[in-house]
Amino acid sequence: MNRPWMAVAVAVSLSVMSLVPARGQANRPASPNPLRYDLLLQQGRVIDPKSNLDRIADVGIKDGKIVEVAQHLRPVDALKTIHAEGYLVMPGIIDLHGHLYASAKDAPSYAQDISLYPDPFTLRNGVTTIVDAGSSGWKNFDDFKVRVIDKSKTRVLAMINIVGEGMRGSDYENDLNDMDGGATGAFAKKHPGLIVGIKCAHFTGPEWKPYDEAVVAGNLAGIPVMVDYGARRVERPISQLFATHLRPGDIYTHMYSGLRGEQDPATGLASAPMLLARKRGIFMDVGHGNGSFYWTVANPLVRSGYIPDSISTDLHIESVNQQMKDILNVAAKFLAMGETIPQVVAQLTWNPAREIRQTQLGNLSPGAIADIAILSVEEGRFGFMDVANTRMDGHEKLQCQLTIVNGKIVWDLNGISVDPWDAKTRSIDPHLTRDWTIYYQPAFPPDRARFTTYPPIPETSK
Ligand SMILES: [Zn+2]
Repeated sequence: MNRPWMAVAVAVSLSVMSLVPARGQANRPASPNPLRYDLLLQQGRVIDPKSNLDRIADVGIKDGKIVEVAQHLRPVDALKTIHAEGYLVMPGIIDLHGHLYASAKDAPSYAQDISLYPDPFTLRNGVTTIVDAGSSGWKNFDDFKVRVIDKSKTRVLAMINIVGEGMRGSDYENDLNDMDGGATGAFAKKHPGLIVGIKCAHFTGPEWKPYDEAVVAGNLAGIPVMVDYGARRVERPISQLFATHLRPGDIYTHMYSGLRGEQDPATGLASAPMLLARKRGIFMDVGHGNGSFYWTVANPLVRSGYIPDSISTDLHIESVNQQMKDILNVAAKFLAMGETIPQVVAQLTWNPAREIRQTQLGNLSPGAIADIAILSVEEGRFGFMDVANTRMDGHEKLQCQLTIVNGKIVWDLNGISVDPWDAKTRSIDPHLTRDWTIYYQPAFPPDRARFTTYPPIPETSK
C-alpha cells in the first residue's frame, strides 16, 4: 500500500470526490458522523441468544459497537440503511476450532502447510472470530501472531498448545519433555483476550501428563483447556478424563467422532462418560474436520438431545474441500437432524463466546462489539456428507449475505449495501463511507449519468 502511484491515485480521487457531494449532503461535515448510527439493519429476523430475542427488529450500529436493537429505528438517524427483510440478523459467528498457522516453514503439519489463512474462508461464511486450536505453542506463538493474526481482517484468537513447539508433527506432539504447564500458562497470561485457551491434541501415549499440564497452564492463565483426545488408550479412558482430570468449563472437541467411547455401544446414544461430562459442566464442541463427524454417531446423539454447546469446523486445507466444507454447511447438518434455527444460532455465537469467556462477543447487547452475520435460509433439496462418505438429505441450507466486523461491512454477497449501478446519485457522501464499510467508495463522476442508458440494439444487428 506504500507505493507512490497509489498515493497519487488516492489523492486525485479524493479531490474529485470533494467536488461532487452527494445530493442533499453538501453541508455535512466529512467526519465525525453526527448521526446516531453509522449503520442501520432494517427489519431482519434478529436472533440474539444472550437476550433470548427472536423477532423482526432493527439494529443500530456506531463506532464499531451495537447502539440498540428495537422494533423500529429511524433511517434518517443512520448514514447507511440496509434492508434485511427475509434474512436472519445475528451476532457474528465464532468458530472455536481452526488451524491458521499458514505460511509454511518446514514439515507438512498443522503448524505449517496444513493450516490456511483465515479471511477467504471465514468472512464469506459469517465467521467474524475464529480460534486457532493449538497450531502454535508458547515457543512459536509470536511467529504465528506476526504471520497471521496481525494481518487478518477476521478476529483471530488462539488456544496455544501444551506442546511448546505446537503442532509440528507427531514427534513434537508426543514429546513429554516439551509439555510444560508452567511455561505455557505464564506465556498465555501475557496475552489476555488473545490467547483464550490451552489445547491438548493428537497425543498417542498412555500418560496423563499432557492433559494435567494443560490444566496447570489453564489454572495459571485463568483460561479453559480444549482436548482433542488423540489415540484411544485403555490406560486413560474418557470416564477418568471427564471425572477427575478436566475442570468444569473445559472443552471436549470432536464430540461426534465416536473414536474414544463417546457412544454407548449397546444403545447408540451418548455414553455414560459423556453424560457425566455434561453434568460436570464440561463443554462439548463439534470440531468436524476430516475424521470427527459420523452420521451414525451424531444422529442418535442429537436426536436424543445430546446437542453440541458449540458448532465448529476444524478448518484446515483438507476439511474445506471434503465433507466439512464450511461452518454454515456444518450448521445445516444440525438443522437436518432436527435442531431449530435459534438453537443453531446459539451454538454458533453466544455459546462459544461463553466457552472462551469473551462475552463482549457473540451478542447484540448495547455496547457489544458490532460483529454481525446476515444469513438467508435457502429451501430446497440438499445433501450433507459425513467423514464416512455417506449422505443425509435435508431441505434447509444457510447462506451468508453480509458480514460485519467491528461495525464495518467486510462481505456483501449480493451487494445489498450498495447503490444500483445506474442510480443517478450516490445515496451517501463518500467521505463518510469509511464509517460503515471497508470497501472504497468512489464518487460518481459528474457525467456518469450519460452512460447509464443506451438506445435499444437495432433489429438488423441481432
Ligand atoms: Zn484440529
